[in-house]
Amino acid sequence: MGEKLSRRTFLAASPAAAGAASFAIQVGEKPALLGGKPVRTEPFPSWPKMDATEEKALLEVLRSGRWFRGNGPQVARFEEAYARLTGAKHCLATANGTSALFISLNALGVAPGDEVIVPPYTFIATVNVVLLMHAIPVFVDTDPETFQIDPRKIEAAITDRTTAMIPVHIGGSAADMDRIMAIARKHKLPVIEDACQAHLGEWRGRKLGTLGDTGCFSFQASKNLNSGEGGAILTASDELIERCYTFHNNGRGRRITSENFTYQSSGHNLRMTEFQAALLMAQMTRLEEQVRARDENGQYLTSLLREIPGIEPARTYEGCTRNAYHLYMLRYRKEHFAGLPRAKFLKALRAEGIPASEGYRPLNKEPFIKQALSSRAFRAVCPPERLRQWEERNQCPENDRLCEEAVWFTQNMLLGTRRDMEQIAEAIRKIQAHAADLVKA
Ligand SMILES: *Cc1c(COP(=O)(O)O)cnc(C)c1O
Repeated sequence: MGEKLSRRTFLAASPAAAGAASFAIQVGEKPALLGGKPVRTEPFPSWPKMDATEEKALLEVLRSGRWFRGNGPQVARFEEAYARLTGAKHCLATANGTSALFISLNALGVAPGDEVIVPPYTFIATVNVVLLMHAIPVFVDTDPETFQIDPRKIEAAITDRTTAMIPVHIGGSAADMDRIMAIARKHKLPVIEDACQAHLGEWRGRKLGTLGDTGCFSFQASKNLNSGEGGAILTASDELIERCYTFHNNGRGRRITSENFTYQSSGHNLRMTEFQAALLMAQMTRLEEQVRARDENGQYLTSLLREIPGIEPARTYEGCTRNAYHLYMLRYRKEHFAGLPRAKFLKALRAEGIPASEGYRPLNKEPFIKQALSSRAFRAVCPPERLRQWEERNQCPENDRLCEEAVWFTQNMLLGTRRDMEQIAEAIRKIQAHAADLVKA
């Protein structure tokens, strides 16, 4: 890499990281933000990955002229393959992850004015689908160590109006499914797993998305399995899968023929196209290998970052036997960096060639949610007194703090080499060594 011999080289090797971390770091070098040489200049692995497999799959659908699941084989093939891959009994492919969640809520009969338990540390879609049902999202605070919904706080949020829970496996790590399912059984509440970030993640050896009543996935472009847009629902229930199918097909059930035709319910059109399914089949040929690479690199990165004071990688619950690492998440404590604000830390990190972001803002405090709950449609099912109660209960102080401290790396950054992981740690150590100068700059 053309390092100058005169550069002071420090060795970061501590007993706890032995075997994992023993690499040279140039903390003497000036931070890139202050004009020094960046730790890294080459880009991280690009996303998505593709080759002739994808081209062939898409051209085949194109030339067949069968672009819709009603007259082509691809969507049904994908559903079978994804069910097999995850060990699920049934799979329904959908237009996207948001619709997978929305279909699940409809199939489970969530009604206007019902309460649905959600985490505040998630993508907005988890909450939007609840509001679309004219149901009330009840936020349960985050466990700041794991970034997941805090299972110790769920029961206190359950009322006689609660009709479902949507735990999210945020970042691809698992929510505490032992405790969540125990609470669900005790209160007879259905569970919709939002596994939109957790493809092939596991809880005690079972794939995430197969533990709840339904499990929902997204295949949007940033996700670990990608068809631009796309989604899926997994379930073990013969009845639920038919209700999901019917709802996503404008109320037209699978077993309906021209002789016995009748609409079975109201519904929507949220079907997947043949193009999406063909692309997914091609992308799935690489999935297992990518999952393994992210897992190995993610664990290695954790072993390196744990040694840096003020950097706290998200912990996984003991039952999480495989983290899908859609995101690599950590907490940044500026006290250990001479008070360097997170925004400046991120800027310095990017200057070193390490892209990073600050992640979600406190979703429960988004003004539009309260606006929605005070709208004319909600007032019809939710009197002002309930809105006041909702506001009083809507406190997630741990999540508020987490949102100020979080730092994310994206999944594609974990698809490369161990050296890539070492450079992430190296850049952070370099910033730490010069934190006081960066504060002043
Ligand atoms: C991406 C995502 C969704 C929504 O999926 P889309 O395919 O973008 O509609 C829902 N929940 C979570 C946690 C997500 O990350």
